[in-house]
Amino acid sequence: MWDTFESRLEITADLVAETGLRVGMGGEAAEPTASDLPLIKDAQGNPFIPGSSLRGVLRSHVERIVRTLENSAGDGKGACNPVVEKEWCITKDQMAELRDQARREGDLWLAEQVWEKSCRVCQVFGSPWLASRVKVADLHLIGETTVEVRDGVSIHREKETVANKYDFEAVPAGTRFRLRIVAENLDEEERGLLWLGLRELERGHIHVGGFKGRGLGQVKLEKLAIKGLDAADPEALKAYLLRGEMKPIPLEEADRWLEALLTKIGAGGE
Ligand SMILES: [Zn+2]
Repeated sequence: MWDTFESRLEITADLVAETGLRVGMGGEAAEPTASDLPLIKDAQGNPFIPGSSLRGVLRSHVERIVRTLENSAGDGKGACNPVVEKEWCITKDQMAELRDQARREGDLWLAEQVWEKSCRVCQVFGSPWLASRVKVADLHLIGETTVEVRDGVSIHREKETVANKYDFEAVPAGTRFRLRIVAENLDEEERGLLWLGLRELERGHIHVGGFKGRGLGQVKLEKLAIKGLDAADPEALKAYLLRGEMKPIPLEEADRWLEALLTKIGAGGE
């Protein structure tokens, strides 16, 4: 498991905005003439969605579903709460203790302990102590889009008057972005966990970006495709190393990964 290359999955799709979509810079406008809330843009000046941002919403959605099915978090099960430190599957204090013990037991022992104590979701998506095995590339624009500047108002709740006017940038419905996810060394159930999130994203159940309360951020996936490499297969490894080729995986096979996961956690985690 440690430092070896066993398998790789590459998942690609078009992420299509079904409503306006806004992935912003957050802070204040750099130029006085600019929108109050600009979109985040790449070196060419085109709006894009940072991979970390998409991975975040994908993960949160997966966490919610796993929590529904599996209550306890830790020891390879369930989903801890990354937002509240004392609800992490390994807290900072627990990690300090493990590091203390690791002075006698060694680094490999520590790595194994961290692995075993982490929850199901951290084992795949990473934690402060564990590298993520799912990498989401930045999602760049397919074709062109327009950047719309929309008016926003915030309402003073008690007085029911307009408290503040501002404008914000968004891209219109129909804008497409390229999604590419690479995952390494996931077993069948771990693949199922990732696939669970992607099927939900495909169906439009996961919203992306800001202003969700105003109906922005509805997306779906099109042209979802998976390729895989099993490094234990010498011919497949050769084709990959020489020509970068990977074998297409039918989506029905991926659905079986998800079934394997659901069978496992539905049966009480054994
Ligand atoms: Zn966790």
